[in-house]
Amino acid sequence: MTETKTGPKDAYELILEAIDAGTYKPGDRMVESELAERFGVSRTPIREALQRLETQRLLNRDGRSLIVASLDHNQLAELYSVRAELEGLAARLAAQHAAPEEQKVLRAMIEEDRGLIDDPAALARANRRFHRQIHLASHNRYLLQQLDLVHRTMALLATTSLAAEGRSEVAIEEHDAIVRAIEARDADAADDALRTHISKAFETRLTLDSKAP
Ligand SMILES: [Zn+2]
Repeated sequence: MTETKTGPKDAYELILEAIDAGTYKPGDRMVESELAERFGVSRTPIREALQRLETQRLLNRDGRSLIVASLDHNQLAELYSVRAELEGLAARLAAQHAAPEEQKVLRAMIEEDRGLIDDPAALARANRRFHRQIHLASHNRYLLQQLDLVHRTMALLATTSLAAEGRSEVAIEEHDAIVRAIEARDADAADDALRTHISKAFETRLTLDSKAP
């Protein structure tokens, strides 16, 4: 995480980050006392955080313990269809409401990404920042909340579709098309470009998963 946040992180954020970083993977048990020790937090906030994560379906109950959820094929399809709708809407709103400064930041991100083509992990992080920047440029806080939840759930996917052969270059061109539409303040084109991007990412993931052992 290169993002700097102000203020101390709460237990919920700490656990989320650990899932996101792959410290805890789908199927791993989440033990209250262990988490409390790892993060140097008392057990009450950990328990509350675990409950919240269970409500958000990032954790599943397995008997008495909680495990990091894994997504089955149907959940994956459901997640991507919600993501396409919400991201498309974010792009549409960004085309309408992005400040010139925000457009410039998006443009700069594309140029930066071109230097990361051979580093899938760095590109995956840059990709998240890029999408987050579009969410912010939508200037709609309720949409932002929903997208946060979708992206948290995406953390349950162990691999990034950007790791697929040749996907990085194509993904950057798709990002470029999104930014061009936002710069042109063409809401329909922005919505369309972002939906296409998510649909291609989903397609890539399905291909990757079909090749997984
Ligand atoms: Zn992307």
